[in-house]
Amino acid sequence: MADAYDLIVIGGGPGGYVAAIRAAQLGMRVACVEREEGLGGTCLRIGCIPSKALLESSMRFEEARKGLAVHGVRVEGVSLDLPALMQRKARIVKGLISGIDFLFKKNKVTRVLGTGRLAGAGRVEVDGPSPTVLEAPRVLIATGSRPASLPGVVFGGGVGTSTEALSYPEVPGHLVVIGAGAIGLELGSVWRRLGARVTVLEYLDRILPGTDADIAQKARKVLARQGLDVHLGVRVTSARDVGEGCVVEAEGMDPIRCDRVLVAVGRVPFTEGLGLQAVGIEVTPRGFIPVNERFETAVPGIFAVGDVVGHPMLAHKAHEEGIACVEGIATGHGHVNRDGIPAVCYTEPEVASVGRTEEQLREAGVEYRAGSFPFRANGRAQSLGETEGEVKVLADARTDRILGVHILGPRAGDLIAEAVAAMEFGASSEDLARTCHAHPTLPEVLREAALAALGRAIHA
Ligand code: NAD
Repeated sequence: MADAYDLIVIGGGPGGYVAAIRAAQLGMRVACVEREEGLGGTCLRIGCIPSKALLESSMRFEEARKGLAVHGVRVEGVSLDLPALMQRKARIVKGLISGIDFLFKKNKVTRVLGTGRLAGAGRVEVDGPSPTVLEAPRVLIATGSRPASLPGVVFGGGVGTSTEALSYPEVPGHLVVIGAGAIGLELGSVWRRLGARVTVLEYLDRILPGTDADIAQKARKVLARQGLDVHLGVRVTSARDVGEGCVVEAEGMDPIRCDRVLVAVGRVPFTEGLGLQAVGIEVTPRGFIPVNERFETAVPGIFAVGDVVGHPMLAHKAHEEGIACVEGIATGHGHVNRDGIPAVCYTEPEVASVGRTEEQLREAGVEYRAGSFPFRANGRAQSLGETEGEVKVLADARTDRILGVHILGPRAGDLIAEAVAAMEFGASSEDLARTCHAHPTLPEVLREAALAALGRAIHA
């Protein structure tokens, strides 16, 4: 017998679970179909959260080994307990997953374990431990993405994706990372800090595609100084496990022998087995589900949000879309400000940005003023001993409205929040510059960069 709901959400990741909770808050009867035991999707289970746990632990390890002497703290006999480090990561993930279970119960969202498939208008077949058919006038697809592959790459053995790189059982002697995006640089940094030699091979002539080029160039220099061996303009043609290690081949380079290969060349939307074509939904050539501004697909009553509808593939973008979609369904209003979605890469120092880059502004012919301010001139950064990097504020030359903020520096991922809020409220660089900032704090660097955009930084 079919169950009746107001909304069926397929996928329990950041897009799906947040949409399910918000829809329930708005009074809908909601079922969320997820094939994994744990809710939270890639982000929580095998992405953002476990990688941040490893980044933090590896940073502590490196600091204990090399970074404390400058503070007058003598440490001897520092060694790595990799199983303990991995257990801590697993505990964090488990705790957060049970947090979502709790929120589902609290909001009375029905959680259905299994793989959902569209079976006609308003019907979702669930293949799982208890196969069932669910019915609702509206269905929301939030099935996310999976790692992309490359021709010539054979997965297996030591060749894997971020999923394997979050759980290597030992520190690889030599790790080759293919792709210098956020995944490659974050996980490459983790294993370098834990003792691996890390070589990063990137096809483009820069790292972190999409980030402000000048900030990315500065980040590359810092990462190189830390020992990350980044090669740009390299097209990898093959990677495979040959027994006793792996071999990576790239145009114009000698084959590289290594212990492990992390393939981090982007992600692709995940729609296999959903039955899209059967209900009349055609994906784009790159596999995304086309949606309108209300996140509705070509089929009325079927909606989609998150990685599966397009870039940027970020958990918080999926959150926003999930909320906007169900608020749109319930109230007729729901909106995502695409210019206000921040991006963070959790290297050390972090790279964070919101809004447009200098290249994008130049290309669009927008006249702008740029103001930069270095962390080394900030008292708090000095006392933390984290002085690498800068904040750059880009403001419209005519109106002074902030168009983009780009940060390379300590806690950049936290600092960007102020810039996002300012931009959300249409602030000018003058507004930021006239906002009182506590002293001594890192956010003062943002204020000084805003002052610099007006030509009057105090501490420059
Ligand atoms: P990405 O698209 O950010 O970077 C992939 C890189 O691989 C690109 O620089 C690309 O030029 C390179 N590449 C492609 N083909 C290559 C080849 N043959 N040889 C060498 N290099 C090649 O992808 P990612 O780092 O895998 O991340 C996937 C997605 O997950 C992205 O959308 C990213 O935004 C998201 N993500 C975000 C965070 C974060 O916000 N902190 C962290 C991890 C992942």
